[in-house]
Amino acid sequence: MSSTDQSPTSNFIRNIIIDDIQAQKYKRPIMTRFPPEPNGYLHIGHAKSICLNFGLAAEFGGVCNLRFDDTNPSKEEIEYVESIQEDVRWLGFDWESRLYYASDYFNRLYDHAVQLIQKGKAYVCSLSADDIRQYRGTLTEPGKDSPYRNRLVEENLDLFARMRNGDFPDGTHVLRAKIDMAAPNLVMRDPTIYRIRHASHHRTGDTWCIYPMYDFTHCLSDAIEGITHSICTLEFENNRSLYDWVLDELEVACHPQQIEFARLNLTYAVLSKRKMIELVEKKYVSGWNDPRMPSISGIRRRGYPPEAIRNFCERIGVARRDSTVDMALLEHCVRENLNDRAPRVMAVLNPIRVVIDNYPEGQVEWLEAPYHPENPQMGSRNLPFSKTLFIEADDFMEDPPKKFYRLAPGREVRLRYAFFIKCAYVVKDEITGKILELHCTYDPETRGGGAPDGRKVKATLHWVSADHAIGAEVRLYNHLFTRPDPDSAKDGTDFKEFINPDSLIPLTDCRLEPALADAASGSHYQFERLGYFCVDTVDSRQTAPVFNRTVTLKDEWAKIRNK
Ligand code: ATP
Ligand code: MG
Repeated sequence: MSSTDQSPTSNFIRNIIIDDIQAQKYKRPIMTRFPPEPNGYLHIGHAKSICLNFGLAAEFGGVCNLRFDDTNPSKEEIEYVESIQEDVRWLGFDWESRLYYASDYFNRLYDHAVQLIQKGKAYVCSLSADDIRQYRGTLTEPGKDSPYRNRLVEENLDLFARMRNGDFPDGTHVLRAKIDMAAPNLVMRDPTIYRIRHASHHRTGDTWCIYPMYDFTHCLSDAIEGITHSICTLEFENNRSLYDWVLDELEVACHPQQIEFARLNLTYAVLSKRKMIELVEKKYVSGWNDPRMPSISGIRRRGYPPEAIRNFCERIGVARRDSTVDMALLEHCVRENLNDRAPRVMAVLNPIRVVIDNYPEGQVEWLEAPYHPENPQMGSRNLPFSKTLFIEADDFMEDPPKKFYRLAPGREVRLRYAFFIKCAYVVKDEITGKILELHCTYDPETRGGGAPDGRKVKATLHWVSADHAIGAEVRLYNHLFTRPDPDSAKDGTDFKEFINPDSLIPLTDCRLEPALADAASGSHYQFERLGYFCVDTVDSRQTAPVFNRTVTLKDEWAKIRNK
């Protein structure tokens, strides 16, 4: 990954726009658009396109439209239309009053198709879909003309009108652009621009039974709205000739420039709506907003802040060469953002009971602890300390190996913001041998964490007071896949075979310090020594809180970068 090397704001699309503005190519502010097809939820790859389109428009005093590319009635749903708007807004972008639908242009698109027929530049083809494919030829062989290619204009107009009227079943006829069946670019071999589809559309209902194809719709929608720069991903590079052909053949007020960039690929993720739908429908995940999903709704629920995602999109840059970005960079951006603003609190995920034998029964003292050591404005809270505490089970070992510096029999450690404690003995279940509780003593002279005699301890542990702690479920998330490229197994193994069985680890017996009792839905915390966590927006209840691990504390990216 070299994108962090480049200056963050400069990219080739931005340079094109700067040149166009300097050359006064447009007598008006620039206009871009984000054109999702409402056939799934948005993912982090879309965030790259959103940040680019809205970001460039904002930077150069232009505007960016949100346009639903809703030409495929059978796969599109209102749920997606709504989630997409929510996600774009959440990312921090505003289309103001410019919310458009390609379906709003169906009448005008139909009229444009009629114009093409009248010019002799489109014809109704009655070959089957299979035959059309056969006739198209290959990269090395030219295609063959359809036997319907030379239908007369009048006949084409009549058939097209009857297609619209619903006189024919699906698949019997299509309208094709009449370009060149021997064109080296296969896209130009008389592409289909309209097909019959007797299906209800989520906005136009049963008004239409013919629907325009992407290549015909997209360029005309751009032209209708007055888009200046039509930014899309590289797979549309070959379609640019058709984009330009349609706009050149028709009388349109504006001819936007299509510019392609490399789509975002991310390790340990699949960024394809089709595959994500499969994960949802086959219940590999709990839904589109499962915190393991790379969907915007998933990462939002996971606790990734929108600023971190915008920052990530800035850092990965925009290029024309395909590349895969390391998930660790995304996590690094999240960590960097939360490091400054998440209050630091104590939570014990796998509790083990600690009894302080020399602490008076029934006594509680409240110890002041800052929410962020480097950021005093974040304030502080008081932590209750009492005779019975919980610490993390793996912070204790009965028979520790050499490098284990935490609690062990006879060993003294510091409890964060509290006292030194020393382990006296261990109580075990007589039958199973399982450790039930640790008995310790505390040194009242060490309140606040230091010993007056200057003696040192090698570890500082987090803890909570047993009687004051609140119970919670904490969900630990790991990569959804066991390999960085689940999509490209050489032997063709399906990506679902690589789902990580440990991608979700629910811990149901966690104990949180009492200040977390009023944690707001979605709010972020650092659990000291454990990572960043947020209150789950779906399953958390006042009486039964649920926290998601957003990201661990360890900065793997820093390691990679410093290599
Ligand atoms: P998928 O391939 O997952 O079905 P799509 O490209 O069909 O996605 P659209 O709804 O058509 O999804 O995408 C809307 C816009 O987002 C398009 O301009 C598309 O180029 C862009 N986009 C989609 N995926 C990515 C990605 N991974 N990186 C950057 N831009 C993307
Ligand atoms: Mg698409």
